[in-house]
Amino acid sequence: MSTLRFHAVKETFNRKPYPIEENIRRSDLFGKNVFNETAMRQYLTKDAYKSVMSAIENGTKIDRNIAGQISASMKDWALSKGVTHYTHWFQPLTGITAEKHDAFFETIEGGRAIEKFGAGELVQQEPDASSFPNGGIRNTFEARGYTAWDPTSPAFIWGTTLCIPTIFVSYTGEALDNKTPLLRALHEVDKHATAVAKYFDKNVTKVSASLGWEQEYFLIDKALARTRPDIMLTGRTLLGHSSAKGQQLDDHYFGSIPARALNYMRDLETECMLLGIPVKTRHNEVAPNQFELAPIYEETNLAVDHNSLLMDVMEKIADRHNFKVLFHEKPFAGVNGSGKHNNWSLATNTGVNLLAPGKTPMKNLEFLTFFINTIKAVNDNEELLRAAIASASNDHRLGANEAPPAIISVFIGSQLTTILDALEKVTKGKISPQEMTDLKLNVVGKVPEILLDNTDRNRTSPFAFTGNKFEFRAVGSLANCAPSMTVLNTIVAKQLKDFKVSVDALIKDKKLKKDDAIFNILREYIKDSKRIRFEGNGYGDEWEKEAAKRGLSNNKTTPEALQAKISKKTIALYEEMNIMSKVEVEARHEIETEEYTLRIQIEARVLGDIARNHVVPTAIKYQNVLIENVRGLKEIFDNDFIKMAGEQLKMIEAISNHIEKINSGVSNMIEARKKANKITDSIKMSFAYCNDVKPYFDEIRYHCDKLELLVDDELWPLTKYREMLFTK
Ligand code: ADP
Ligand code: MG
Repeated sequence: MSTLRFHAVKETFNRKPYPIEENIRRSDLFGKNVFNETAMRQYLTKDAYKSVMSAIENGTKIDRNIAGQISASMKDWALSKGVTHYTHWFQPLTGITAEKHDAFFETIEGGRAIEKFGAGELVQQEPDASSFPNGGIRNTFEARGYTAWDPTSPAFIWGTTLCIPTIFVSYTGEALDNKTPLLRALHEVDKHATAVAKYFDKNVTKVSASLGWEQEYFLIDKALARTRPDIMLTGRTLLGHSSAKGQQLDDHYFGSIPARALNYMRDLETECMLLGIPVKTRHNEVAPNQFELAPIYEETNLAVDHNSLLMDVMEKIADRHNFKVLFHEKPFAGVNGSGKHNNWSLATNTGVNLLAPGKTPMKNLEFLTFFINTIKAVNDNEELLRAAIASASNDHRLGANEAPPAIISVFIGSQLTTILDALEKVTKGKISPQEMTDLKLNVVGKVPEILLDNTDRNRTSPFAFTGNKFEFRAVGSLANCAPSMTVLNTIVAKQLKDFKVSVDALIKDKKLKKDDAIFNILREYIKDSKRIRFEGNGYGDEWEKEAAKRGLSNNKTTPEALQAKISKKTIALYEEMNIMSKVEVEARHEIETEEYTLRIQIEARVLGDIARNHVVPTAIKYQNVLIENVRGLKEIFDNDFIKMAGEQLKMIEAISNHIEKINSGVSNMIEARKKANKITDSIKMSFAYCNDVKPYFDEIRYHCDKLELLVDDELWPLTKYREMLFTK
C-alpha cells in the first residue's frame, strides 16, 4: 500500500469515538436556539409579537418602529445565549448558503463599547456581493445586491452567531437567490388554492404548501477521502475499480447502523433539535456507507431553509467525527446514487390536507379536485419540472443507468386509476344522480384503502402519489430544494387558477350546479393528462419508447433540459404568475448554464491530473518492476525464459497499452476543451462540454481502472472503493 494510503487507513482504524452526551431528552432541546414563537412570546412586546405573527400568517409588512423593538429583543435573547455576532443568512445561486458575520459590538464616545443591533441591521444589509453569480443583472462593479429579512423563517443561533434568514435581491429588485422566487410561488399557490378550496369550505382563508424532504448521503472516512483529489475537488470519484463486494447482497439496506455512523447521527440530531429542524427518521440506504435522514414535514419555505441549513450542519458535524459527507448524486460508480425525495402537499388553515382522501363525498370531491389538478399541472409542464432538477451531478442519475429516468411521469396506484377511469366516463353536462352517487361512493369506498395498503408503491416513478401527498423523487441529493419547489408550486397555482375560471364559466354560462361543473372539468383534465400517468417500470427501455410515442420529453443531459427554462411558454408562465421577469429567468439560465460548464471543466482537469500524475507514473513504476523481473528471469533461464516470463511480458504490454490509451485520451480531452473554450455563446459552450469533452471521462477511466487491477496494491496511491465503502 502506498505510504499516503497506508497512513490514511491506519489513522482511520486508530480513531477514538467522539464522545456523545447521554440522557438528554430530544423534546427538551427542540428549538432552543431558535427565535421561535416561545422565545418571541417571552422577549417581544405584545404588539411586536402580533406583528411578526401576522407577517408569517398573512404576509403583512412589519413597520420600522416595530422592527426596532424586534431587533432589540432578538439581540437580548441572543446575548443571553452567549452570541457575539449576527449574520444575514441567504441562499445565493451558487447552491450553498452564504453569510457574512458582523459583531454586535460597537464603540461609543468615552472609549466605551456597547452591543448594538438596530432595525436597520435586522431588516436590510448590503453584503459585498460582487462575486455572487447574478447572470449579468447587476453590474459587477456596482455590486449593489442587498439582503432583506424574511420574517417567515425564524432567526437561529449557530455557534456564537445569530443567523437571520433573508432574501437576496439586486438594487433594482431582481431576485439573486433561490428563496425569492420560492416565496412568490408559495404566495401564488396560496392565493389560487384558497380560491378553489372555498368551493368546498367557505372558512378556508389560507392554503400552505408543505414539504417533507428525505436526504440521502454517503459517509466516508475523512482521512481516506483526503487521499482522493477527485472527491475533495469534485465531490465524486472520477475513477476507481468497483469493489469485489458491492451492494449485491443487499446487506446494508435497513441493516443495523454501524456504531461510528450512529454516533455521528446522534450528534447531528442533537444539533438539529437545537436548531428546530424536526428530524425524525434515520436508516441505512441501499449502497454501503449510504444513509438517509428525514424530518417531519413543514411549511415549504421553512422546510427548504431547514434542508439547506441541515446540509451545512451535516458537513460541520461530520468533521468532528472524522467523516466526510458526500451529497453528490453519484459519488461511486456501480453502486446506488443519492437523491432527495421531496414530499409535497397542500394544507388549509382549517387543518385539512387537500391531498388526503376523506370519508365523506364532499371531502373526496375536494381531494379529487386537487389531485387531478396536480396531475394536469405536471402533464402540462413536465419539461419545466424536469429542467428544475437538472444539474451536472444529477445527470448521473436521471437518464443514466439509474432511476428515476429523465422522463417525468406520475404514478397513482391501481385504486386511484380505477377511480379516474370511472370519472372519465361520466356524461357531459349534467351528471345523472346515479352517476354522481356511484362516483362519490366509489371514491369513499376505495380511496381510504390506499392509506392502509401501500404495497403497490412504485419505486421507479419520479413523481408518485403516496397516500396523502405527492413524492417528487427525481430531485438531486446535492440540490437546494427551492428550485424544484418553486416550479411545482407555480405550475399547480397556474393550474388551479385556470380551473377556477373554467368551473365558474360553466356555472355562469351553462347554469350548471357547482358539483356538476367541477366533475365536468375534472373529466376533461383526466383525458387531457392521460399521457403523464404511468404505472409500469420507469427504468425499462419499453417506457422510453412508450413515452416518446406519448410525446413526453426525455432530456437526458443538463444543457438539453435547461432549454425549457427559457422557452416562451416558461417565461409567459412566470410573468403571468409573478414569479420572475424575463430578465430574471434569463439571468438564472445563464448562471446554470455556466455552472454546468464549469463543473464539467473542473472534473475534466482533475481527471486529467490524476490520470497523468498519479495513475500513469504508478503504472510505469510497476512496469519497471516487471521489466526487472523479466531481465532477472532471462539471466537465470536464458533461452527458456519465455516460458517463465510469458505472463509478465503480457502484463508489461497491457500496461503500455493502457498508458497509451490514457495519454491519448487526456490529450484529446484537452484539445476538446480548448476548442470548447473558444466558443463565445455560453449555451453552445455547455453543449460542447457535454457532448465533446465529457465522453472522454469514461474512456480514460476505463483504462485507469484496468491498471488499478494490474498494478501492485502497495504502489497504488489512491484509496480504493473497497476501503472507502467498507470502512465503518
Ligand atoms: P418513505 O417515502 O421513505 O416511505 P414516508 O412516506 O413515511 O417515507 O414519509 C416521507 C416524508 O414524507 C417524511 O419526511 C414526511 O414528513 C413527509 N410527509 C408526510 N406527510 C406529508 C405531507 N402531508 N406533506 C409533505 N410531506 C409529508
Ligand atoms: Mg420516499
